[in-house]
Amino acid sequence: MNVDDHAEDLASDLGVDKAEVKENLQNLVEYSVPLEEAKRSLRRKYGDEGSSASEGPTAADIADIGPDSGNVTVTAKVLTAGTRSIRYQGDDHVIGEGELADETGRISYTAWEEFGLEPGDTVTIGNASVREWEGQPELNFGESSTVTKADDIDVPYEVGGDRGLADLSPGDRGRNVEAKVTEVETRTIDGRDGETEILSGVLGDESARLPFTDWDPHAEIESGASIRAEDVYVREFRGVPSVNVSEFSTVERLDREVAVGGPTRLTVREAVERGGAYDVELVGNVIEVRDGSGLIQRCPQCGRVVQKGQCRQHGEVDAEDDLRVKAILDDGTETVTAVLDRDLTEDVYGGTLEDAREQAREAMDQSVVAETIAEGVVGREFTVRGHLSVDEYGANLETIDFAESDDDPAARAEAFLQEVDA
Ligand SMILES: [Zn+2]
Repeated sequence: MNVDDHAEDLASDLGVDKAEVKENLQNLVEYSVPLEEAKRSLRRKYGDEGSSASEGPTAADIADIGPDSGNVTVTAKVLTAGTRSIRYQGDDHVIGEGELADETGRISYTAWEEFGLEPGDTVTIGNASVREWEGQPELNFGESSTVTKADDIDVPYEVGGDRGLADLSPGDRGRNVEAKVTEVETRTIDGRDGETEILSGVLGDESARLPFTDWDPHAEIESGASIRAEDVYVREFRGVPSVNVSEFSTVERLDREVAVGGPTRLTVREAVERGGAYDVELVGNVIEVRDGSGLIQRCPQCGRVVQKGQCRQHGEVDAEDDLRVKAILDDGTETVTAVLDRDLTEDVYGGTLEDAREQAREAMDQSVVAETIAEGVVGREFTVRGHLSVDEYGANLETIDFAESDDDPAARAEAFLQEVDA
């Protein structure tokens, strides 16, 4: 059944206009309210209270819950409890979210009402519904559910939201991190209440560095500060996990300094299998300089690379010259395209943008610039630092450092021989 069918059923049940019901239902669903919860909410709105409990929930072990389980009753320990605000029908609505576990497994939840859940509580949740969220079943409970304290149970999972940055994944909620603010800037965005200031930057601890956004700027978040942030959630941003601090997060300054580790050294395969990684270091051979490298032209409005003065979005434009390299790096496990900006490209080219223009003018062919770059890098080993994103077109590394590997192959071969001899 689609939203239209549900709206039709609901409208005839409630005896109200279908178009109106459909609009309300669509609004709720667009704001990620599960369909069953949305329907219950509309029944309440139109004064039809009693009919929600008709589906008779059954007691379930968490391991047995699937997306089609319908309504269930579970007894579980609260592992994490996060808070977030969403808006529908013009009203802000505070929801709780996190993870629950029993002896058999764990499951994410969304609480559409305030139940005062705290990590470590054991509760029985009556008449929760199950929906699928990012391929996994998720427990939803709200006004038509009951939450009561139960006898403590032991679960084979960590209780509480404390995590190192390397252990955060998109979709995590109710997490607590202790980190150093290594970069921060104030930005103005067009938010749902008009222009709003937010903070964005980078957090680091010994395990990793990750981008963050603070949607409700906390004064404690200053460049160089070591902080503890409680109740943050994690989203994917350009292929890497991003820490989100909200109005419900608490942030305090730590009286110790959090040490920030260097980039994470990974093989290309490890990095690609993570589906994206922030601040990684890869070591491999450049096997090719791809088309679209060297002297290129960009649209002055959107920055896209243009061919023959034509931008895909803006048509004929007065294109601007730029330099970049797209180098295929191979470490024997997998390949990745390292994308170098103008500064890094000038380094590997050994000249400026103006030098590149002149070389192209003399040759009457701008591809000579890419050829010169290729001569300098293909077949050599580089240590490359940057942020990896993976999409359907492949793996790209937004490069921040690009340096020929220090370890000279002859010295390495010698060390290897000594090892063999020993
Ligand atoms: Zn354009």
